[in-house]
Amino acid sequence: MAVLDQLSSQQAMALENKYGAQNYHPLPVVLTRGEGVYVWDVEGKKYYDFLSAYSSLNQGHCHPKIVNALTEQAQRLTLTSRAFYNDMLGVYEKFATEFFGFDKLLPINSGAEAVETALKVCRKWAYEVKGIDINQAQIIVCENNFHGRTTTIISFSNDPVARKHFGPFTAGFIKIEYNNLEALEEILKSNPNVAGFLVEPIQGEAGVFVPSEGYLAKAKALCEKYNVLFIADEVQTGIARTGKLLAVDHENVKPDILILGKALSGGVYPVSAVLSSNEIMNVIRPGNHGSTFGGNPIAAAVAIAALEVVRDENLAENADYLGKLFRSELNKYIAESKLVNLVRGKGLLNAIIINDDEDSDTAWNICLKLRDNGLLAKPTHGNMIRFAPPLVMTEEQLLDCISIIIKSLKEFER
Ligand SMILES: *Cc1c(COP(=O)(O)O)cnc(C)c1O
Repeated sequence: MAVLDQLSSQQAMALENKYGAQNYHPLPVVLTRGEGVYVWDVEGKKYYDFLSAYSSLNQGHCHPKIVNALTEQAQRLTLTSRAFYNDMLGVYEKFATEFFGFDKLLPINSGAEAVETALKVCRKWAYEVKGIDINQAQIIVCENNFHGRTTTIISFSNDPVARKHFGPFTAGFIKIEYNNLEALEEILKSNPNVAGFLVEPIQGEAGVFVPSEGYLAKAKALCEKYNVLFIADEVQTGIARTGKLLAVDHENVKPDILILGKALSGGVYPVSAVLSSNEIMNVIRPGNHGSTFGGNPIAAAVAIAALEVVRDENLAENADYLGKLFRSELNKYIAESKLVNLVRGKGLLNAIIINDDEDSDTAWNICLKLRDNGLLAKPTHGNMIRFAPPLVMTEEQLLDCISIIIKSLKEFER
């Protein structure tokens, strides 16, 4: 079989199953093309993408401006490593720091690497600026967090599937309940070794859990009071997904350290970043941290184009508008539904909660039905389905999607 022959779905899945490590359980659909809010499978069936690669594709599939930036840069210069300067990185760093309102950016590739970077910056700041005794720094994290898959990051996860048999784990993390300011202040008050508070402004993987209004602003104020860095992981919530450029913008919070990934490249290339002030970022000196591909010229060109699309196509405003429409339309259905308990979210990051056990297969079966009806989504737990379409969606397309979703759900009503 020639490599370029078109595979059937069955053949493509069989290859992955036989030759690939089984670290995912994909929905059975094999995609070969994407454009805007749509993807096509190898048999030619068209779907709405309602996951957007976990909010990486905010700008839509194969956005021509971003793909153009990629291909032009790829033909000129792809990689220099940071052993030398290149003529794209500084331009990107200036653009992105001004775009988000920070002094400095540290470029890296994946979300998990960016979280690792933020943790290292925070610890170094703790010893060199705050003056915590060596190796005593603690970072507060939240229960049901998701920050990626490295050994350190799973050290403070409480997902048993992500952790089991991967120990020993990294020390130095204190876990508190999400959305609980008393729990936060109790630790801050009693523990002088706390260096940072790492938080998702909305918990994405946990099922789009939106904290109470005021939580982020008050948590930030507590961090200031106790001289602790407020570290926002906006890998999933950032870049217009929730109806503002950043989810912390809903509460006018400026993080001490901001972590971005996913849609920073519009899903075209792995690009992530950590942004902070001069005072904090200057603790990192040559040799302290790095990555061969971090800050490569393709990543720089792609990220500039991806952010320009967010700005020029008003994606935050569109996400805000369509998100309100989505929740209000779904709420009309939910009012009469025995199957769906609620819809929650902000902007176009939403989830529905199914009236069933967390380990049931109802959400999975609904996703299979949605697929058959032309819309792709994935459960986050047995009883939750996340809905996160590209932000370039039109109102007409969204209404079409809502009718597909409601029609599919109705087939599961008892
Ligand atoms: C996806 C995600 C990460 C990890 O990003 P990767 O690119 O998969 O390493 C980290 N934090 C949050 C909040 C995420 O949603």
